[in-house]
Amino acid sequence: MEVTWKEKETEHYIFHYKADSLAEKEMQHIIELQEGCFKEITDKLEFIPEKRIIYWLCDTREEVMRISGFEYETNGVTFFDLENPTIYAVYNEEVKCVGAHEDAHAISYQYAYSYSIALAEGLAMYFDKEWWKIPNELCTRVYMEDNKYEKVETLILDDYEEFYKIDDRISYPIMGAFTAFLIETYGIEKYKSVYGEYEDLSQRFREIYKKELGAVEEEFVASVMSQSYSAELLEDARKILYEE
Ligand SMILES: [Zn+2]
Repeated sequence: MEVTWKEKETEHYIFHYKADSLAEKEMQHIIELQEGCFKEITDKLEFIPEKRIIYWLCDTREEVMRISGFEYETNGVTFFDLENPTIYAVYNEEVKCVGAHEDAHAISYQYAYSYSIALAEGLAMYFDKEWWKIPNELCTRVYMEDNKYEKVETLILDDYEEFYKIDDRISYPIMGAFTAFLIETYGIEKYKSVYGEYEDLSQRFREIYKKELGAVEEEFVASVMSQSYSAELLEDARKILYEE
């Protein structure tokens, strides 16, 4: 059967979706959701990208791989093409890979490329705010209490191969919480001046924050540990985060 792709252009996006798909049925909702995310991300970053973001809404992970040419099946992937920033995402009854995450990648990339995968994922997670519906800070607190915490300094300075060796349910929310701490404590300007650094991130941190990355991390740890969470809330989070 011939597949018909349709196209819808909005203020900041071009959506591609198939005729008679769930995406087509829910297009108006998707447009409002993404335009809302776009506004939140660009307001916070104080940066408006020039190019519209192109979306391909697919039925399955297999279709994402086939249409995008990406090397494996995935729910969502962003192609960092400056002229045509493009996101391929699964949209079906079970998986709706829309929202802030991939858009944060597509928008921030037009500002600067982050050589630290941890910083890039941290920024996307900052806009997601949560992992499996658990706030990034609460996830981080659980990992700190259970000795599963991974040091932010190591995550940021490691290369991407090392970064991907760590379980993403641990590394992603930690980096999201740390990014929130950095931006909300020290402001967006400082954050943006370290984000695209490609030579020496430790040095850049020292210059911009007037302290070592490790010292900023200590403040972050203290801030997460000072939050008061009920035992019940922590236990509920553990149940979800540790399930296989
Ligand atoms: Zn990501």
